[in-house]
Amino acid sequence: MTETRFRGGEIMGIRIPTVFEENDAIRCAGCGEHIDGMPFRVSLMDIMAPEAPPSWAIGAPINPGPHQFHADGDHFRAWARRRGYLFCRLSDVRELMRPVPIPGDEARWGVCDGLHPEAHELVPA
Ligand SMILES: [Zn+2]
Ligand SMILES: [Zn+2]
Repeated sequence: MTETRFRGGEIMGIRIPTVFEENDAIRCAGCGEHIDGMPFRVSLMDIMAPEAPPSWAIGAPINPGPHQFHADGDHFRAWARRRGYLFCRLSDVRELMRPVPIPGDEARWGVCDGLHPEAHELVPA
């Protein structure tokens, strides 16, 4: 596969952009760096609140993903932090996370793996 090693340049006077990096490289949604090997994929579940979802939730959809990260959970948290999401202290970063709507004047979300019986303890990610 010589094409995949081609890093851009000129062929017969035609300028070829460096497409390899953008098309083939898997980038971490947290830090933006290239991921070697298998990315850690995180999906966000649909909101299944038993209560009627508050109307503001419609204006602030969460992209369910899957989003791809480095294996270190800090990269997921960096992604969440950039979006202003909170992170539940009782949660680990897992492949399936649940959004936790936080009522307030502004639409805010927390993310949690939902695997603990206690009330969420949401802190800045
Ligand atoms: Zn990363
Ligand atoms: Zn929680």
